[in-house]
Amino acid sequence: MTGDEENPTLMDEVARLAALHRYQILDTPQEEAFDRIPRIIKSALRAPMAAVAFIDDERRWFKAVAGGKRGELPRSISFCNHTIQRATPTIVVDTHLDQRFCANQLVVESPFIRSYLGVPLQTPDGYRIGSVCCVDKEPRDFTTEEIQLVKDLSAIVVDQLELRQLALFDPLTSVRSRRGFRGDAEMQLALSTRYGRNFSLLLLDIDHFKSINDTYGHNVGDEILSALGPRLSETLRDCDFVGRVGGEEFAVALPETDRFSALVCADRICGAVSAVPFETQAGPLSVSISLGAASYDGGDCGLDELFEAADKALYRAKADGRNCVRIGMRAAA
Ligand code: GH3
Ligand code: MG
Ligand code: MG
Repeated sequence: MTGDEENPTLMDEVARLAALHRYQILDTPQEEAFDRIPRIIKSALRAPMAAVAFIDDERRWFKAVAGGKRGELPRSISFCNHTIQRATPTIVVDTHLDQRFCANQLVVESPFIRSYLGVPLQTPDGYRIGSVCCVDKEPRDFTTEEIQLVKDLSAIVVDQLELRQLALFDPLTSVRSRRGFRGDAEMQLALSTRYGRNFSLLLLDIDHFKSINDTYGHNVGDEILSALGPRLSETLRDCDFVGRVGGEEFAVALPETDRFSALVCADRICGAVSAVPFETQAGPLSVSISLGAASYDGGDCGLDELFEAADKALYRAKADGRNCVRIGMRAAA
């Protein structure tokens, strides 16, 4: 594909949003690996502002920006929303002379964008999920070298997204890997201990999973694992997150959640898993899980301590007959 002629499936907005959301990058904190991209552009092109932007359903969100503020804007006024309509770079030499932009809020008001270069962020399967862009307050024509530099950096951002995905997410279940989960959970717990906020951790383990593998085969076991990740995520709030921390063991982080609410949530998860059988090549199979919960309850507390308390509670849930929830106490509470 050379540019403007389009494969219609790549213009399918639902699939495009799914491709974006797969990276789980929206609303994540600042990261140096992304921050350096706009910094390079700003300095190499001697421009007042550059950014790495993503186009969500209704908003444009900056992952990284140099010379401006991170944050979001309505998608409808975003220049980057134009960039993702085409595979080729979008270049606006003078916004005042361009019908599409002369009345745009970002042109007539601060930051008074006068010229713009945007290169789409295109996923390996072809979806354009955002852009790497550069703006100036003066009219300007971008040179071939400048355009090439931004194109190269756009490709680097996509590589970075892919690598981040591989390192932090589990390909079978689509939830965080052990490493990805621990990193985010450490950060949440640090916020809770610092500001005295609630935080709870659930550990869950599939009941008698070995016998499922033994009876139906490893592939069927994998099918169940792969469906369990999304099923867990569906029962949770947006700010909660799940990780696969062992073969058939998962952890759930519940920010701003006290002991009582954690128990309610754990019961809901337990019910959601056992209520609906999992569709597999061997037919629908009923599966249950056991859960252990532990909550941060003040003072200093490391993630390992919470894991240990939740693990002991999980052990009791298994001993008490499985398909149930038990609450753990921190040894040092
Ligand atoms: P319990 O109720 O006590 O947890 O019993 P269990 O059979 O689930 O426990 P056990 O620890 O004995 O077995 C866990 C099984 O999970 C054994 C292992 O083969 C299976 N398992 C671990 N990782 C994977 C995986 O990636 N795919 C599949 N299919 N099975 C896995
Ligand atoms: Mg286990
Ligand atoms: Mg098990």
